[in-house]
Amino acid sequence: MRVVIVGGGFGAVQFAKNLRRKLPASQCEILLFNRENHMVFHPLLADVAGASINADAAIAPLRQMLPAIGCRTERVQRINLQSSEIEFDDGSGALERLHYDHVVIACGAESNLGIIPGMTEHAFAFKVMRDAIELRQQVVRQMEQAEASSDPDRRRWHLSFIVVGAGFSGVEVAGEINELVRSSTRFYHNFRKEDIVVTMVHSQDQILPEVAPKLREFARKKMEKAGITMLLNTRAVAATYEGIELNNGKMLRGATIICTIGTAISPLVQQLDVPKERGRIRTTPEMRVEGQTNAWSIGDCAYIINAFDNKPSATTAQFAERQGRQAALNLVRILKGEATKPFRFKALGQLCSIGGYQAVAEMMGVHISGFLAWFLWRGVYLFKLPTWSRRIKVALDWGWDVIFPRDLSFLNTDTAQRLTHAYFRPGDFIHRQGDPARVFSVIEEGEVEVLQTTDQSSEAKVLAVMSKGDFFGEGALLGNRPHETSIRARTVVRLGQIGSALFTQLTRSFAPLRDLLAKAVTLRSGDFWRRLPLGKALLEGESIAPLLDPLPAEFLNKETTFADAITALNASPTGDLLILDEKQRLWATLDRDDLYHIIARIAVIPTENRGDVTQLKLRDVLVGNIPFITLEDSPLVASATMLDHGISWLPVVQGKDDLRPVGTLRGVRISNRIIEKLAHTEADHAHHAKAAS
Ligand SMILES: Cc1cc2nc3c(=O)[nH]c(=O)nc-3n(C[C@H](O)[C@H](O)[C@H](O)COP(=O)(O)OP(=O)(O)OC[C@H]3O[C@@H](n4cnc5c(N)ncnc54)[C@H](O)[C@@H]3O)c2cc1C
Repeated sequence: MRVVIVGGGFGAVQFAKNLRRKLPASQCEILLFNRENHMVFHPLLADVAGASINADAAIAPLRQMLPAIGCRTERVQRINLQSSEIEFDDGSGALERLHYDHVVIACGAESNLGIIPGMTEHAFAFKVMRDAIELRQQVVRQMEQAEASSDPDRRRWHLSFIVVGAGFSGVEVAGEINELVRSSTRFYHNFRKEDIVVTMVHSQDQILPEVAPKLREFARKKMEKAGITMLLNTRAVAATYEGIELNNGKMLRGATIICTIGTAISPLVQQLDVPKERGRIRTTPEMRVEGQTNAWSIGDCAYIINAFDNKPSATTAQFAERQGRQAALNLVRILKGEATKPFRFKALGQLCSIGGYQAVAEMMGVHISGFLAWFLWRGVYLFKLPTWSRRIKVALDWGWDVIFPRDLSFLNTDTAQRLTHAYFRPGDFIHRQGDPARVFSVIEEGEVEVLQTTDQSSEAKVLAVMSKGDFFGEGALLGNRPHETSIRARTVVRLGQIGSALFTQLTRSFAPLRDLLAKAVTLRSGDFWRRLPLGKALLEGESIAPLLDPLPAEFLNKETTFADAITALNASPTGDLLILDEKQRLWATLDRDDLYHIIARIAVIPTENRGDVTQLKLRDVLVGNIPFITLEDSPLVASATMLDHGISWLPVVQGKDDLRPVGTLRGVRISNRIIEKLAHTEADHAHHAKAAS
C-alpha cells in the first residue's frame, strides 16, 4: 500500500510519524512531498526576524526527523482524485505521475498581500522562513542607512517600521523588531532611541482579539511602554515606497512595512473539485475529504469541525498536529475494519511573546503575563521543537541573546541588483528632478506625467505623459547623472523596476538593448523641446481646446466584436475610434495601424482556443491604458507625448480624475498652429521693419 502526504508542516509530520508507528515499512510505503526539504517552526519566525535566534534553529530537515519515511523535496502540481494520482515536477521540468492508495492533503495556506493595493510591491509578508530572513536583513539595512543619512527626515523614515495586523504574528514581530532596533542603538552614532518609530496598525479596537481582555490590555500597555505606537480602529488602504495610506486619509511613513494579514488558499487546493468552505477543503468528522474514500485533509487547508465544541477547528499548529495524529489513527482503523473517531480536541491555551522579555499566556484557564509568561513561552516552544538537536540549538541561541547583544551582521543583498515592482497612488512622485538615478522603470499599469522646472521658472511644467509599456530612468542611468525631469503618477501606477547595477550589467552585455535605450534617450520629449526653443516659445501658454477635433460619432466598448470594430473603422471618416469602459471612461483607441497589432495578438492565441476570430471581443485583442492627455495639458505636452509614442493623434479627456473623452487631437493641428503663429510673427516683423524705415 502507498500513502502519499502532500505538505511537510505540523499536520503532515504528525500524520507520517503516527502512521509509521502503526504500520511498518513492509506493509505501507509512506511518501511525503514538501516544497522545501525542511519543516518550518512558524512560532519562532518572529525570533528569526528579530535576530534573537538563527534561521537554522527554527527549521528541521524532514529527512532527519522522519528517517523511516520517503521524503521528497518536490512541489505537487495536481492531485487527480478520480485516478488516485499525483502529478509533480521531477526536477527536470517534466511532469511525473505517481499512483497512491491514500492521499493526505496537508499543504497549509499561503500569504496573500494582494488584498491591499501596493502591499505585494512594498510590504514584507510574514509566513515562511524566507520572509523572516529577508525582514531581518531589511531591519539591519535600515539601521545602516539611517546611520549614513545626513537628512533627519530621511533618517527617521529609515527607522520607521510599520506592522499591519495585531494578531499573534503581528504582535510578536512588532515586539521583536522593536527590541532589536532599540537594543542596538548603542552601536550606532547617528541616531538615538527617540528616532525609532514602530507602529502597529489594526482594524479592531484591541490587539490580540483571540486572548482574554485582561491579557490584551496588559500586552497593549507593555508594548506602548516599550515605545510601540498602536493605531487601532484603523485600516491600511494602500502601500507605497514611502509608507502606507490609512483609511482616515493620512499617510504613515516608513521604509519597512510588514503585512501579517491576508491568507490565500494554496493553488493545489484551488484546483480540486471538492466541497469547500471559504476555500478550505470540507472534511467528514474523521477527516476524509467529503465525498472521497481515499483522500484526507488536515491542517490549515482543511475545514474540520471539532467534535469538542462543534466549531470549525482553528488554523493553528496545535490543531494541525492533533489532526495529523488522529487522521493517521483513523486510517489504521479503516484498514483494520474498525470504526473511526471524529476529530475532538480541547485547545491547550495561547502564548504570545510581546518583546522585551515579556509575554501573555492562557494555559488551561490560567492567565499569566510578564516575565514568567515569557519564560513559560520559551520553555513550551523549546519542548515543542521537533528534534533534540534543534532544542539545544535554540536554547543556546536564547541563552546567548540574554547575555550578549543581538547579531547585527547582514548580507548586503544590494537592491541595485534586483528586479522589483512598485506601486504609486495618483499624485505620488516616482522620482524628482535632481534625484540620483536608482532604477530603470517600465510602466505595467497606469499613466505618469513628466515634469520639469527650468532656470527661468521654478514652477514644474508637464512635458509629456507616459502609459503602459513606456519606460523611464534610462537617460540618467546611461549618462550616470541625476534625473533631469520629475515623474509623477497621474493614476494608480504599477511599475516593473530594474536596479541600477543590474541595468548596467544588462545594457553592457546586450548591445541591442543599449542601442534601443540610447535611441529612446535622444527622442525623449524633454530633449526634443530643448533643441527646438522657437517651437517651444510659440506653443507656450497655448490651450489645446481650440485645436480639438470633435468626438467620433460612434463609440466602441470592450465587448464590441472584432468584426463590428472593422465595420466601424470603415465607416469612420478619420479612422480614429475611441473605446470606452463600463463607466464610459476612455479605455483604449483603435485606428487602422492597430489592426496589425491585433493580428499579431491573435496569432499568438493557440488555434484551438481562437474560435471564430471575427467574434473575438476588443477586450481580448487590445490592451487598455493608452496614452491620453487632459484638457488642462498644453499642446507642448500633446506633441511630446505623440513623439514619444510614435503616434499622430491622441484622445483628450476631461481631466485627471474624469476620464470621459472630450475630443481628439491630431499632430497636424499643432503643426498648423505653429505655422500660423510663425506667419503672424513674420508679418509682425515685416510690419515693424516697414514702420521703422
Ligand atoms: C508567523 C506565524 C506564527 C505562528 N505562530 C503560531 C503559534 O504560536 N501557535 C500556533 O499554534 N500556531 C501558530 N501559527 C500557525 C501555524 O503555523 C499553522 O497553523 C500551521 O503551520 C499549520 O500547519 P499545516 O501542517 O497545516 O501547514 P504548514 O505548517 O503551513 O505546512 C504546509 C507545508 O506544505 C508545503 N506545500 C504547500 N503546497 C505544496 C505543494 N503543492 N507541494 C508540496 N508541498 C507543498 C509548504 O511548503 C509547507 O511546508 C503561526 C503561523 C505563522 C505564519
